[in-house]
Amino acid sequence: MPLPPYRIKVVEPIAFLSAEERAAALGAAGYNPFNLRADQITVDLLSDSGTGATSAAQEGAAAVGDESYAGARSWFRFLDEVAALTGYPHVLPVHQGRAGERILFGTLLRPGQICVSNTHFDTTHANVELSGAEARDLPCAEAADLDSREPFKGNIDVAALAALLAGPDGERVGLVLMTITNNGLGAQPVSMANLRAVRALCREHGVPFFLDAARFAENAWLVREREPGYAGRTPREIAREAFDLADGCVISLKKDGLASIGGCIGLRDDDLHARCEANLIATEGFSTYGGLAGHDLERLAVGVREVVDPAYLGARAAATANLARMITDAGVEIVQPAGIHALYLNAGRLLPHLSAAEFPGHSLGCQLYLDGGIRCAELGSLYLGTMDEQHRLVTPAPFELVRLAIPRRVYTQEHFEYVAETLAAIAKDPERITGYRIVSTPPILRHFKVRLAPLP
Ligand SMILES: *Cc1c(COP(=O)(O)O)cnc(C)c1O
Repeated sequence: MPLPPYRIKVVEPIAFLSAEERAAALGAAGYNPFNLRADQITVDLLSDSGTGATSAAQEGAAAVGDESYAGARSWFRFLDEVAALTGYPHVLPVHQGRAGERILFGTLLRPGQICVSNTHFDTTHANVELSGAEARDLPCAEAADLDSREPFKGNIDVAALAALLAGPDGERVGLVLMTITNNGLGAQPVSMANLRAVRALCREHGVPFFLDAARFAENAWLVREREPGYAGRTPREIAREAFDLADGCVISLKKDGLASIGGCIGLRDDDLHARCEANLIATEGFSTYGGLAGHDLERLAVGVREVVDPAYLGARAAATANLARMITDAGVEIVQPAGIHALYLNAGRLLPHLSAAEFPGHSLGCQLYLDGGIRCAELGSLYLGTMDEQHRLVTPAPFELVRLAIPRRVYTQEHFEYVAETLAAIAKDPERITGYRIVSTPPILRHFKVRLAPLP
């Protein structure tokens, strides 16, 4: 297995609670892992967003961060790195991805228009709809088969996009946004061939084409591994080719920026840049910091360079693939093929004795905490299903999944073995796991604040 190209210099203790303490903690959290305190968790796989470790070089740069209000040295370091990576003539800093979405969609989209995507991420979907436009997903057909090992299940359905653009709704399409990798659909990558086809269609119909590029480096790595003709190219060159195809991008730099906060918008169009900049200054901060501190900009400037290191990406991809192999060997099926930033457990198949209304994904996630102090996120009917007023499930989600997100440079092989062993023990006796019912839900974004109780 490829060795990670770093050693550990600074460590943080993690908690080991007893089984009784974990049961009490989960009960007090209303059986919702989002409500747990982080110091009640042994291995935290809730999200890969902002949870990575920084490097000595990043912290060294942060120490000399320039906190000037306008024109800080740190801003120009960030700008130079992002412009060199993406090639976009205009770069606007934002504090995280969704701020960039709000500014871009609020400026570019008009009420009644349609934003088309391979799959909108949840905040992206929300920000499209807040602009008054409609968010429409056109994932490729292979994405619906969780077991298929097609290499690019993150692709958009090009024929469906062509039909939409040429059809009666074509005039209403205001933006095509490709999410690389496809976080909403199993962390699956998008091929360069797919991006080229999207670009050609967008050119033909005069529609702006943007990337939601939170995992630009991980997508590039999977292109290099899986797409013919790319094996000899560097991840940085492949990422650049993707950026070159699009008119601009929004990036949450909490992922492949290798830092805990940050984001940016990249643009070619001068007029769109001027309008986004005005919005940015009014709502996020002046256009040389965008809500970020100088030390954040410094960490990001180093991070976007470190993240495209083939040795780093190769080791990270191998670690995820190895965890995937350990989990499937233990008898737990996952969405295939394994991506890089997360694995998606097929809880519906592991717990067939639970109906969708008993939330098998949530049950499996809770069991991972009860048995091993492991925290993860349900992506099934609790998150995506529709409910009636009594919190009863009306329409289940298409799949009952649990996402194990992998923070960058944080956990070692031993931690992953521990996760696999905990899952293996669950898979030996899945029948003992009971379902859950909802006790109370918040008005929106249910999964964050919902409270539940175990069924007898
Ligand atoms: C995380 C993420 C976002 C939102 O970014 P934040 O930094 O969390 O606001 C948007 N799109 C994708 C694909 C993401 O993964």
